[in-house]
Amino acid sequence: MSNLDCDLLIVGGGAAGLTGAVTAAYHGLKVVVAEKASVLGGATSWSGGWMWVPLNPLSQADGIIEDIDQPRTYLKHALGENYDEPRVEALLENGRHMVGFFENHTALQFVSGTWIADIQGDLPGAGTGGRSVGPKPINMRRIQKSLRAKLRPQLYETSLLGMGIMAGPDLQAFLHATTSVKGFFHAGWRIMFHVFDLATHRQGMQLVNGTALIARLAKSADDLGVPLLTDTPVRRLLTEEGAITGAVLDGPDGEITVRTTRGVLLAAGGFPNDVTRRRKLFPRTPTGQEHWTLAPPETTGDGVSLGESAGGVLDTSLASPAAWCPVSLVPYRNGRVGTYPHIVDRGKPGLIAVLSNGKRFVNEADGYYQFTAAMIAAAPAGEDVTAWLICDHAFQRRYPFGMAKPFPIPVWPYVRSGYLQRGKTLKELAQKCGIDPAGLQATVDSFNKNAVVGEDPEFGRGRSAFNRGSGDPDHDPNPSLAPVEKGPFYAVKVLPGSFGTFAGLKTDPKSRVLNGDGQPIGGLYAAGSDQANVMGGHYPSGGINIGPAMTFAYIAGRHAAGVREYENVTPMPMNDGN
Ligand SMILES: Cc1cc2nc3c(=O)[nH]c(=O)nc-3n(C[C@H](O)[C@H](O)[C@H](O)COP(=O)(O)OP(=O)(O)OC[C@H]3O[C@@H](n4cnc5c(N)ncnc54)[C@H](O)[C@@H]3O)c2cc1C
Repeated sequence: MSNLDCDLLIVGGGAAGLTGAVTAAYHGLKVVVAEKASVLGGATSWSGGWMWVPLNPLSQADGIIEDIDQPRTYLKHALGENYDEPRVEALLENGRHMVGFFENHTALQFVSGTWIADIQGDLPGAGTGGRSVGPKPINMRRIQKSLRAKLRPQLYETSLLGMGIMAGPDLQAFLHATTSVKGFFHAGWRIMFHVFDLATHRQGMQLVNGTALIARLAKSADDLGVPLLTDTPVRRLLTEEGAITGAVLDGPDGEITVRTTRGVLLAAGGFPNDVTRRRKLFPRTPTGQEHWTLAPPETTGDGVSLGESAGGVLDTSLASPAAWCPVSLVPYRNGRVGTYPHIVDRGKPGLIAVLSNGKRFVNEADGYYQFTAAMIAAAPAGEDVTAWLICDHAFQRRYPFGMAKPFPIPVWPYVRSGYLQRGKTLKELAQKCGIDPAGLQATVDSFNKNAVVGEDPEFGRGRSAFNRGSGDPDHDPNPSLAPVEKGPFYAVKVLPGSFGTFAGLKTDPKSRVLNGDGQPIGGLYAAGSDQANVMGGHYPSGGINIGPAMTFAYIAGRHAAGVREYENVTPMPMNDGN
């Protein structure tokens, strides 16, 4: 048993926790991060790392100058009755300052996501780009050696043989590796370095997406002298007269009692792996097991339980309890079953999604959340919630189809393992999958007739900027629509999954946890998935988890440090130095 004194204790080393830690430490607080897993990063490490931050200085430097009223209008329409004005204002006002702070003062540097459109493009105020930033890639050689083993590795399922690929120009180059000279050299160069890294370091060294975000945040925290205690779950909070004064941690060498002067920030990643809460709160999960989250196993709701133990309240009034994403299960020879998120493939031209009756049920190119919500709503009562993605041979050789990669990577291992079903005809495919063959044939006939002229009268696929952005810019007349024509045909089964939870602790705009009377609990903050999502359980744009997670953790860090003034945020071109 040992004792530790600090100003602010952070529970969890993901995007929210590390953001709160760096912000508070930069502003002079003595901060300690306690992380339950043996590595930092949580779900953030496995994520795309994209952050929705309207008015951010990088987009402004790219020439996208908009008024705060535009994203505000969009959110008012997208969130409807879940619109929480004070918290949305805090998000819109602080997000750009958060980006400016990190870019100016820390190792976290950004790239602009100017090309990423909001998902619900038909709503007033929707952005066609310029509201997102991502983490700038970083080579592991630039990270302190002592930190390297503390970083959660890339999720294998979203990598190319362990190598992360970044959405945007990097991914586009890989997709054009066999059709353009530039794409060929880019992909060849990246693969060559990856193989070199595997030979010399037994791991890929070039970090992109969520792994780059966590590496840069952890480096920033380490630069500021913040202890990052891994394998150290926080077990209980300490209180005095209703205010939080510390916590008890379970370290590798025994219990640690931490006394704090400014309190505790809960950032333990929500409860996607808490089966009991899932059973209570998730739709169509009678045992809690009929859900396949992508978040790492440590995210079992500890932050929410700690908050509740101090009088905090779990907000279950959101439109949806979780950030849905369709997943497929990937069987490996050693018996492991991986979980693959269908983010990239659904919008490409020549793929459709059907239920067991063979009918389409959604605009496949809409967001992962909208797709899964539609699947949950449309799956016949009494049946498991499931759907099939279907494509033809030309599609499979041209685009990623779940885990299966396009030409020149062979498809047969995926068929042999049972991950993909293959049929010479649609009828044979339907029979293998348990889909109604006549229903599927009728769906494909009617879809094809319209797809060749770039139309989808049933679901309007390819009309929004978001749909077209997820398609193939080289495909005419509609980047998101092509017929499903010549066999062999392929299918992959998709199931309801999530990136994490939306339901979380009720907080005020300063990220302070509220008690049952709506009053802040002294010294207790929550951010990230431990905080009820500011989008009210909706999914209006990519990056709406990490953007708010970091913004509200930044607000918490500043509040704990007693900082009130903001630096001036000016348009900021991408930093080429680091
Ligand atoms: C494949 C994938 C892609 C995604 N892409 C995006 C994207 O591009 N943009 C976006 O906005 N969102 C994305 N998401 C969602 C996003 O990653 C999460 O919502 C977000 O990272 C949550 O951040 P967090 O800091 O709250 O939690 P986490 O990053 O999960 O961190 C929580 C940490 O707390 C630790 N912890 C748990 N209990 C304790 C305890 N008792 N004591 C100490 N530590 C504890 C956990 O081990 C974990 O390390 C994606 C998710 C996945 C899985």
